Amino acid sequence: LKSLLNDPTLLESRAYVNGAWTDGSDGTFDVTNPARGDVIAQVADLSRAQVAEAIDAAYAAQKEWAALTGKERANLLRKWFDLMTENAEDLGIILTAEQGKPKSEAVGEIHYGASFVEFFAEEAKRVYGETIPGHQRDKRITVIKQPIGVAASITPWNFPNAMITRKAAPALAAGCAFVARPAKETPLSAIVLAVLAERAGIPAGVFNVVTSSSASATGKEFCENPKVRKLTFTGSTEVGRILLRQAADQVMKCSMELGGNAPFIVFDDADLDAAVEGAMLCKFRNNGQTCVCANRIYVQAGVYDAFAAKLAEAVAKLNVGDGLSDGVTTGPLINEDAVEKVEEHLNDVTSHGGAILTGGQRHALGGTFFEPTIVTGVTQDMMVAQDETFGPLAPLFKFESDEEVIEMANDTIFGLASYFYAKDLSRVYRVAEALEYGMVGINTGIISTELAPFGGVKQSGLGREGSHHGIEEFLEMKYLCMSV
Ligand code: ADP
Repeated sequence: LKSLLNDPTLLESRAYVNGAWTDGSDGTFDVTNPARGDVIAQVADLSRAQVAEAIDAAYAAQKEWAALTGKERANLLRKWFDLMTENAEDLGIILTAEQGKPKSEAVGEIHYGASFVEFFAEEAKRVYGETIPGHQRDKRITVIKQPIGVAASITPWNFPNAMITRKAAPALAAGCAFVARPAKETPLSAIVLAVLAERAGIPAGVFNVVTSSSASATGKEFCENPKVRKLTFTGSTEVGRILLRQAADQVMKCSMELGGNAPFIVFDDADLDAAVEGAMLCKFRNNGQTCVCANRIYVQAGVYDAFAAKLAEAVAKLNVGDGLSDGVTTGPLINEDAVEKVEEHLNDVTSHGGAILTGGQRHALGGTFFEPTIVTGVTQDMMVAQDETFGPLAPLFKFESDEEVIEMANDTIFGLASYFYAKDLSRVYRVAEALEYGMVGINTGIISTELAPFGGVKQSGLGREGSHHGIEEFLEMKYLCMSV
């Protein structure tokens, strides 16, 4: 892997604690390339005591960091952003090697991830308070906003860069210190962020990366250590519930970006070509492994067959392979469990009367490669209607009326992203308002941007990331009541 990089010193396998490169007292754990199955790095396995040391370091560094002006913090964050951008190609290669997505998509993620650092660097200067007219003649009311303190993050493997920057950038901008625990599948992309933070001159202890094979030990330390005041998590609803329970003991402020079960609705007045293009991006990006990927594709009866045929044509053009090879559009799945989940959902569809339109098998490349698959005749009683597949399976459901599809789309515990294609203006408004989701893509299959508040309702989470709202998650309001 080193030989592929312009700057081989970006590849680091130690953790970063208090500005120092740190070996793990629990030895190392292996990181494998999902496209080839070979071990590409052995990364420091930190014990729970070492995680506590990182929290101590963050706690010690935070007050001085918060004492800087917003502009001073902004300048350092801007340098961090510049370094990410300058090294985007290398960061993309590291990301593809450990995660599997095609390199162009990985470089795209680096720019997306960096965009949060750029955006929140600017927001550091705009943490405005408020004055409120007093309730008595001699009273003056002022609201100030202060950083909450030490923030800790737990993030998944599907966006190894952006899920960290989306949390760390607003935290640092607000004046918090940060301890990041990346997924054990993809620690290298997190560690390289620390390499660049160090180069940018971000002070020791302000940004720490604690790599460990035991997520639960780290999660417990984050929740039980009184020096941590904020937990920010992206991952499954199941783990989110565990963390919320654990965090309850010290009433810790939590942000949760949890699972989705995104409906993608194609109405009979939709531009079908545009809908197919959106569905391809929305379903097959990152090989279906995003929490905003279309999980259920609902197509109105009159256009069902035409849409299915066009989608199959588009799927036939996907090029499955090693993400580091040219022209590959679709990488492997992250691991064997992920493949088995796709197979489970697929078998459930076919054993209950659905049919395979295209794909449907493990890919000839072997390993964790799977054919991009479309199934038709899918109904609400099948597993895929309730549970996120997180893989390259596009299930086509048929519906008749708007009321029916809204009811089906909302029939889930999740409420993260949703999408629909339609032209009739009153239908667009009605459907957008009726969908019980935090985000609605209308005639588009891609909604993520640092400028907008990303997040879910129902059991898809708490809080928002990105936009000027994102920094609020790392701030506390303080109200000053003064008698004059
Ligand atoms: P995904 O399906 O995206 O892997 P998970 O919720 O299983 O979603 O994992 C998201 C992150 O949470 C990963 O980094 C994982 O290691 C971590 N994790 C899993 N279980 C726990 C736990 N009990 N406590 C803290 N973190 C956990």
